[in-house]
Amino acid sequence: MKREIPLSKRNVSSLMGKPIENPWFKVHFQNETAALQRLRSQAKIPVPNLRSWGEDSEGLRFLETDLVGGVQLERPGKECRMPNFHSLNGEKIGKSCDQCADLAQKNLSQFVEEKLLPNLKSLTSSTTRLNEFVIPPRGPWALSTDQVGGLNV
Ligand SMILES: [Zn+2]
Repeated sequence: MKREIPLSKRNVSSLMGKPIENPWFKVHFQNETAALQRLRSQAKIPVPNLRSWGEDSEGLRFLETDLVGGVQLERPGKECRMPNFHSLNGEKIGKSCDQCADLAQKNLSQFVEEKLLPNLKSLTSSTTRLNEFVIPPRGPWALSTDQVGGLNV
């Protein structure tokens, strides 16, 4: 579950004295939802199913997905996954294991290089938009209503 932080819990801008608001947040959320749906329908990699999204009763955006099965990358290093193979007398049962950490990292790198990146590279589009909208990259942008040097940007 990804949820927009309520205004009362956001950091306060030292310049404005008000909670920090990202004017593009709602569009970023819409774009993330659309990207997840497109990846789920077109990519041949594990992509979580989108359960629900939208605005809650307080007008805060949320996005809920299924969990994708698997083991978190740091877990094999914290607890040996193959104690009988990585130690003579099972002394690694429940103990940290550099061999498992290295193997997990190697498997991740192999998955990224051999499956994830080639699959993402195969997804092409003739447009630069997602759902007819292009989000500007983060940077010193001004809203169209801001005046910069006397010009609207
Ligand atoms: Zn191990």
